[in-house]
Amino acid sequence: MTPGLDLARASRHRGARALFTTVRGGVSTGEHAGLNLARHVGDEPAAVARNRELLAAHVGLPLVFVEQVHSADVHTLPVTGDVPLRTADALVTDRTDVALAIMVADCLPVLLSDPISGVIAAAHAGRRGLLDGILQQTVHAMGELGAQPADLEVTIGPSICGHCYEVPAAMREDAAGRLGATAATTSWGTPALDLRAGAVQALVSAGVPGEGIDAAAPCTLEDERFYSYRRSSRTGRFAGVIHRA
Ligand SMILES: [Zn+2]
Repeated sequence: MTPGLDLARASRHRGARALFTTVRGGVSTGEHAGLNLARHVGDEPAAVARNRELLAAHVGLPLVFVEQVHSADVHTLPVTGDVPLRTADALVTDRTDVALAIMVADCLPVLLSDPISGVIAAAHAGRRGLLDGILQQTVHAMGELGAQPADLEVTIGPSICGHCYEVPAAMREDAAGRLGATAATTSWGTPALDLRAGAVQALVSAGVPGEGIDAAAPCTLEDERFYSYRRSSRTGRFAGVIHRA
């Protein structure tokens, strides 16, 4: 393990390693303090580059990121060679020579693997992407490489929980009309969204068995080991990372 790089937890996937970073272990300072992995949030580029190097060294493989835009678009990596930086919100591959990384700060980092075909994926699911079907699109793209939805193992990582993610009533109504499980109430009694419950519903609708989904992650707003956009709009991003192992 790289000295100083503190990983929240590694999840059990057969044939793959899935992990989530925290704020700890990096060289960023100020409001991005720690292991900020995002270039678009106003942090020093040299610090972000160093943080990404530290993470890649810990993982032992080059990291592949995407330009995330809250879309439902999936980038399936080329079979071999360099991976161009693409705009998308999920990455899919069966390659063994790279690790897939998705950045978040309250949105859901969703890591998926199929132990039989060896196909892995990482998806960024915020409210918009989730409602637009990013997870179903990810499962579909994995299927094109030979994965079976019934075999998938999925970890939904640290993200804002349904008791904390307050939204206007009209937004809850809209979301519930498209993905019923998202409707929730904050711990103080106002309209909220439970994106994790929505993610489980979306994955099950795509054929993933409920028992293959681990959604028991810390809440990013409540747990200061993670960056949270709701806690502070000027903040960094942590990552969910998956690679074949
Ligand atoms: Zn919470």
